[in-house]
Amino acid sequence: LIELRDVNKHYGQLHVLQGIDLAVGRGEVVVVIGPSGSGKSTLCRTMNRLETVESGTITIDGQPLPEEGKGLASLRAEVGMVFQSFNLFAHRTVLANVSLAPIKVRRRKKEDADRRSRELLERVGLAAHADKYPAQLSGGQQQRVAIARALAMDPKVMLFDEPTSALDPEMINEVLEVMQQLARDGMTMVVVTHEMGFARSAANRVVFMADGRIVEDRSPEDFFTHPESDRARDFLSKIL
Ligand code: ATP
Ligand code: MG
Repeated sequence: LIELRDVNKHYGQLHVLQGIDLAVGRGEVVVVIGPSGSGKSTLCRTMNRLETVESGTITIDGQPLPEEGKGLASLRAEVGMVFQSFNLFAHRTVLANVSLAPIKVRRRKKEDADRRSRELLERVGLAAHADKYPAQLSGGQQQRVAIARALAMDPKVMLFDEPTSALDPEMINEVLEVMQQLARDGMTMVVVTHEMGFARSAANRVVFMADGRIVEDRSPEDFFTHPESDRARDFLSKIL
């Protein structure tokens, strides 16, 4: 569904993505892990063109990523993204946060968008909070709104960049559970996370990055029990 071939990017002298090859199939859940600064967020951002690349190709459903213009807007609609910070609109209700983009970008009728948004809020366990404002919700609840908002565009793939790392510990599981359910429902997902429990239980593959390269790309069982590279062994010994 998504394919990156020999993707390279620099920030000045820093070669932040070095010949990245990665293919994610429909319904696959790929967890990306690696040390700070290894390029995980940059990789995520290149997949919906928040960042441009210098060389290599990225295709979604066989279509090359457009550089700009109309094609780019429709691409963005197909790639849902959830960040560490939720970035909800503070002056809009939870419901409006979820239905805004479908109305503005997809040109859905308000009643239809609102009905679908209520279904999505139900799915993330927030049906009762539709008419509140973001500030009235906990961090975990706000992040679940952000997930519903991304889903409202009917994306083909969902990218998550450390969706739980800004949350208090007791709120992490409620967000991971929503993500687990999404994975079980067959959503194609790329998830940058340090939650190894999630990686073990939900991932089809673990991609380990270090210094702008993919060092390992294997099943979670293989990766956690027999990491091949010194970099991965060293990383795992620090976090497990
Ligand atoms: P973390 O685990 O800390 O989130 P990461 O693996 O997501 O790290 P990136 O955010 O992709 O790493 O950053 C990779 C490298 O690129 C880092 O050395 C970072 O300092 C550098 N970098 C990231 N964004 C920019 C930018 N806009 N301009 C210059 N350098 C950048
Ligand atoms: Mg990052």
